[in-house]
Amino acid sequence: MPPSDASLPARTAPSPARSCAERRGEPQPSTLDTTILATGGFQGDSGLLSAYMGPAADRMLVRSNRGSVGDGLRLGRAAGGATSQAMSTFYGHLVPSPLSNFTEEQYMPLAQYHSNHCILVNRLGRRLCEESQGDEVSVQELLAQPEARGVLLCDERVRREYVVSEPFPNAGLLDRFERAAAAGARLASADTIDGLARRVAKWGVDAIRLGGR
Ligand SMILES: Cc1cc2nc3c(=O)[nH]c(=O)nc-3n(C[C@H](O)[C@H](O)[C@H](O)COP(=O)(O)OP(=O)(O)OC[C@H]3O[C@@H](n4cnc5c(N)ncnc54)[C@H](O)[C@@H]3O)c2cc1C
Repeated sequence: MPPSDASLPARTAPSPARSCAERRGEPQPSTLDTTILATGGFQGDSGLLSAYMGPAADRMLVRSNRGSVGDGLRLGRAAGGATSQAMSTFYGHLVPSPLSNFTEEQYMPLAQYHSNHCILVNRLGRRLCEESQGDEVSVQELLAQPEARGVLLCDERVRREYVVSEPFPNAGLLDRFERAAAAGARLASADTIDGLARRVAKWGVDAIRLGGR
């Protein structure tokens, strides 16, 4: 049975300021102490990305809503608001490369969530972070590396247990390396470290530092 009106909390009367604004259809100064600007981030604006993410920003693939172009940020700044000091951090994941296209349905299957069990090296063949901190941390570290590109290395056990797995409920049980290769990205395997280093060297990675001969 629906509740009677008497059991519902009393309705709050609309504030007079809002009623005037609505009647006149004009923007009115806010009388509120706090305003939430809910337009998301600025991932869809290459200029803001370059300004806050640094010179490698144009090497990033947008893995989120492209309609957020920083409107809330511009509005807030125009009103005298300050930004956080952490504007160069972001939430993201390592994704394979190269990709001719990166569409929404690929966002989940191509994310390399398992990288916390792998070794991540840059194009100089150097390890660049503590991978166990998590993929979403490693991806931020990689952005500052040469060409913002790296190579994710693992052995067969890690591939079997973590790459071909469901990293969290509803993420999908699939082979993320296979999906990467099917999307046109680089993937190599070899029986020895030397063999692997030689294959990866063809991608412009320093094979000697990586352990090759
Ligand atoms: C693939 C993927 C998986 C994720 N998985 C998880 C997860 O498992 N758990 C989790 O907690 N988070 C997850 N996230 C992150 C989560 O989705 C975001 O943190 C969250 O959506 C951010 O919310 P928001 O309201 O700030 O921005 P958004 O959800 O981006 O919403 C902003 C909205 O504002 C609109 N907009 C922009 N400009 C204007 C304008 N000028 N006028 C009107 N509208 C405008 C945009 O079109 C958009 O609809 C995931 C993100 C992605 C991309």
